[in-house]
Amino acid sequence: MAQGVTRRGLRWGIVGATTIAKEWMIGAIRETGGEIVSVMSSDAERGKAYAKANGIPHSTRSLATLLAKDIDAVYIATTNEKHKAQTLAAAKAGIHVLCEKPLALKLSDAHRMVAACREAGVVMGTNHHLRNAAAFRAMREAVASGKIGRPLFARVFHAVYLPPHLQGWRIRDAKAGSGVVMDITVHDADTLRFVLGEEPVAATAFTQQGGMGGAGIEDGVMGVVRFESGLLAQFHDAFTTAYANTGFEVHGSEGSLIGTNCMTQKPVGEVVLRNASGEHKLPLEPENLYVRSVANFQNAVRGKGTPSATGEDGIRSMALALAVLKSAQTGREVAVEPGL
Ligand code: NDP
Repeated sequence: MAQGVTRRGLRWGIVGATTIAKEWMIGAIRETGGEIVSVMSSDAERGKAYAKANGIPHSTRSLATLLAKDIDAVYIATTNEKHKAQTLAAAKAGIHVLCEKPLALKLSDAHRMVAACREAGVVMGTNHHLRNAAAFRAMREAVASGKIGRPLFARVFHAVYLPPHLQGWRIRDAKAGSGVVMDITVHDADTLRFVLGEEPVAATAFTQQGGMGGAGIEDGVMGVVRFESGLLAQFHDAFTTAYANTGFEVHGSEGSLIGTNCMTQKPVGEVVLRNASGEHKLPLEPENLYVRSVANFQNAVRGKGTPSATGEDGIRSMALALAVLKSAQTGREVAVEPGL
């Protein structure tokens, strides 16, 4: 856990009666000493049942009611098209915002969200969990300290099987921001930027409809991203592959970092440094990714450091994902232009 979380935890409102909150974030908030004051759901009955099942004392259909509670922060995890309005409302109420990825569907909306939080003087974080993983922190440090010499290539293996309980809006509802690119490629984008410590400049990609996604909704993608230094990163994301491995590799002039089983929500995975002297397993101290995300956000609210991923990081991951989609649609290389 990040330092400085021993004082009273934050008081939180949860926006969205969601799976991610139930499976990870409610526990993570409580583990940092945080208190969950209320949950908002568009459906009163579902909200009540969700609150009861998760030990939350209050539920409401109204965002205004939730924001009027005595809370410090909101965790926004509704479907992607709702993040913008909810973030703007929270910022207006002077409440700190930890928002799920992708921040929005359009880059201009994400910019408005970040600007609104900045102008209101509230902290904004993007819940990119992977950069909190011990595996990626170790890889970032190995790259930065020159352990693989000049990084030349990266490869991201993030093709998974979307579990049946999540086969809803992600594969059916384009208005909610469905599709594997906005769901998974955004995470690759953030993790690549984090590990490599540089920015993507262009992308080319092909998408696939492999039988799970509804009409016009991609459920698989492969592509290549060029970074500022000339490094090329290859990525493969899918909802449809039940038997693939996940992994993340960086290959440099003096060595390779091979991360296996690391593109996951769980604090698992291992990283091997392979170089002229053989194979060396990097020592990792796994910790719950979401607890670290909440702890760093909490510290940022207290004026110490920044969230693990800031609002600007959320803009940058979206910009790459949108370039990937545009490349797949046009058959061309597309510049990554976050507008920051
Ligand atoms: P869910 O599908 O669980 O929930 C999304 C919305 O669907 C909820 O806000 C809820 O509406 C509605 N909903 C939930 N359950 C039901 C139901 N049984 N019947 C009808 N409607 C229902 O979303 P996820 O938790 O999978 O994802 C939410 C957000 O979190 C997305 O932005 C996603 O990209 C992000 N995410 C991030 C992850 C990460 O690791 N950073 C991992 C997973 C998701 P209402 O709130 O109005 O009740």
